Amino acid sequence: MFSPADHIAVAVSGGKDSLTMLMILKKLSAKFKQTKITAVTVDEGIAGYREEAVDLAKEYCDKLEVDHEIVSFKELYGDGLDDFLKGRGPERLTACSYCGVFRRKAINIGAKRVGATKIATAHNLDDVVQTYLLNLFQGDVERFARFNPVLRDPRGGFLPRVKPLCEVPEKEVALYGYAEGLTFQTTSCPYMTEALRNELRTMLNRLELAHPGVLFSSYRAMTKLRALAEPGVPDSVLRSCRSCGEPTTMEVCEACKMVGITMDKIEVPA
Ligand code: SF4
Repeated sequence: MFSPADHIAVAVSGGKDSLTMLMILKKLSAKFKQTKITAVTVDEGIAGYREEAVDLAKEYCDKLEVDHEIVSFKELYGDGLDDFLKGRGPERLTACSYCGVFRRKAINIGAKRVGATKIATAHNLDDVVQTYLLNLFQGDVERFARFNPVLRDPRGGFLPRVKPLCEVPEKEVALYGYAEGLTFQTTSCPYMTEALRNELRTMLNRLELAHPGVLFSSYRAMTKLRALAEPGVPDSVLRSCRSCGEPTTMEVCEACKMVGITMDKIEVPA
């Protein structure tokens, strides 16, 4: 996943998984003098939830002596998530649909801003199995085939992404964090119940309890299926968004479209 000369942008939300991963990567990096680590935190602007997490992220970055970059939805998109959703009608998408697109772009921007060569996200085994299934349930075979949790190769202006905890169950990540005395965020995102992922999480937890090992076996099976499917799904051509310059397969990237930027609102030089 990593090379000794990597500058790793660790996506730190302030939750248990990302704080634990930051601590582990910081410890490991001590053995590799060329390796640099910078934490990147995205502040989505979710009142009563994100403040505590951002404070925890700051606290641990100070403790671990890790440089810390914070990028906010307000800075990038003009509004935090709460205010953005207030401006949408009842027909709006789920909060997580907007948040996922905005956050992905924000992490890429934050990581490039600090000069990182790779992005590490703290998705654990449970998250990865949920994502595989979500892509299948939504009928998105292309996304299923491209979802490589180990290492996503760089394309266009995207930095390569790795998920170092992708084979570690969520419970074990939490256990490690508790054993190391980490303080975790106490509140949950108020929007999490809107997401299909939440129902999948409940279903998979129930299955794992009744049939221990089901998470690992489904992870292995879907990893093999993904590798078989990948050659049949050619990479779409990436270009720069006409509005923000970030990589996209369209004229205007998904995040810009969500904030209401369309081609007719972009001034094209004559
Ligand atoms: Fe964003 Fe949804 Fe996660 Fe809340 S639960 S932080 S809205 S992706």
